[in-house]
Amino acid sequence: MKKISILANSILAFINYRKKRTVLGNAPSYIWLEPTNHCNLRCVMCPNGAGKVTVDKGYMDYDLFTRIIDQISPHTSALTLAVGGESLLHPRFVDMVHYSKSKGMKVLLNTNATLLYAGMSEELLDAELDYISFAFDGFTKESYEKARRGAKFNDTLGNINGFLRLKRSKRAEKPYCVLSVLNLGLGGCSESDKQRFISGLDEGIDEIRQREVASWGSIFKDETSFAHRAHEGVYPPCSRLWSTTCISWNGEVVPCIYNANREYVLGSLENASLLDIWNGEAMIGLRESMLDGSYLRRSPLCENCIVLGTPPLLGVPSGLRLSMADALVNFVGFGLEKFMLQFANKIRKNKFTTLTIKG
Ligand code: SF4
Repeated sequence: MKKISILANSILAFINYRKKRTVLGNAPSYIWLEPTNHCNLRCVMCPNGAGKVTVDKGYMDYDLFTRIIDQISPHTSALTLAVGGESLLHPRFVDMVHYSKSKGMKVLLNTNATLLYAGMSEELLDAELDYISFAFDGFTKESYEKARRGAKFNDTLGNINGFLRLKRSKRAEKPYCVLSVLNLGLGGCSESDKQRFISGLDEGIDEIRQREVASWGSIFKDETSFAHRAHEGVYPPCSRLWSTTCISWNGEVVPCIYNANREYVLGSLENASLLDIWNGEAMIGLRESMLDGSYLRRSPLCENCIVLGTPPLLGVPSGLRLSMADALVNFVGFGLEKFMLQFANKIRKNKFTTLTIKG
């Protein structure tokens, strides 16, 4: 029953977007929540690692976390427990996974995998995490360590392979394991390096994805030290405002994950409900400005956003594709996302933001 209502909610988001409604009858179904914005690395392509985060850093209070989950679980299909930091640094991260799962939510984690030691791997597998993406941005030691400053190629790869072996030895179906590599253009990587890397990876990986790099809204728009995709066009309105939202470690709600400095705070879950914030004055104003084209006056961050720079596919804008694909995956079955990405890449004639290269 929950699967049907999640699918219906996602279809309603699409209808509301097409009808240009700004007060929505659908709830956000795909939510990013930030356990912490602290990180143990200094990655070149991340606002945190590049020293561009100027707001206070901290860890989400566990009581606040459980109150938020109690509130959002009825309408949330997918919860990614990571935004601007390394979530495994949170001392109660595994409890967060257990609690969210106990409320029937699908839980996803993006991690740099440097802290994914055997004990942590065991706990995450036992918590039945649904999806894990290892952010491993380089097919060679040279390109990886240039991008992920502070991490060691062999150590991180050892953690990932250890996780995959443990998953196999436990005969665990979950999590779906993705290895994600950004196209940073940092050099030192030929096609044969790439193939050697792929063949040396433990067989338990479900999918390897190459991704184009986001400029984090306009944070890295003038950056030249790594490659990020230049827009071939701009496709407002941003449909994420109709289907997803993002919760910072301190309980403040922002429109999306690119608000690393909480540039556009919509409200705080310390004193308002998510659904009130979702249809509150700030959010309605942002949706209206997306529709009338004046959004840069409200949110200059959107200027160089990869979401606005990605064309619709079969009439579905890129922001809504995420939540609709997730609702469909929930409905039809695990692993469908991989085939949808492959299909999307085929019909976009190899232009991609995310490309499955093995799976
Ligand atoms: S356009 Fe990009 S930066 Fe602006 S709200 Fe949408 S996802 Fe966020």
